[in-house]
Amino acid sequence: MTLAQFTEIFVLLAVQLRFTDADEATIRGYFKALSDVEPELIAMAAQRFAHGASINADGQAWFPKAPEWRAMTVKVEKDRGDELAGIIRKRHLVNEVLCRACEDTGWALAGDRYRPCMCRDVRKLEILGRRPMPALPAYEPIGQPGQLQKAEALAAQHVKGMR
Ligand SMILES: [Zn+2]
Repeated sequence: MTLAQFTEIFVLLAVQLRFTDADEATIRGYFKALSDVEPELIAMAAQRFAHGASINADGQAWFPKAPEWRAMTVKVEKDRGDELAGIIRKRHLVNEVLCRACEDTGWALAGDRYRPCMCRDVRKLEILGRRPMPALPAYEPIGQPGQLQKAEALAAQHVKGMR
């Protein structure tokens, strides 16, 4: 993350939470503490604070300190990882895998040993929102294949019998 990227996010949150005594030294101080975090996570965490994640018992929103902001980025990353895992589980129910190399385990066989699969980088981009999240499966399995046809044939026989 660059100082320019961070400043943009910081200033927006400062306006939203009326943090009027924020000056350049404050922004640089926060940046120093948070510069190793991906800007997307910083922005998504800021959005949560702006939407009321930092409200005290009196109903007043407070501007997060740097460690609180970092803790929120960890929570955002975990929540998005859980969302992605949920999508992958639902896809597996209909035998759709995102990565054929590792079948979405994150570990692919290379020679005679397992190594971290290359798809981990792609999943990381999805968590950060640089790539869209994978879609949920287009259909859910309903009974066995051919069951509908069997049911229709039975119904047709029944209708015939009533005549
Ligand atoms: Zn993989």
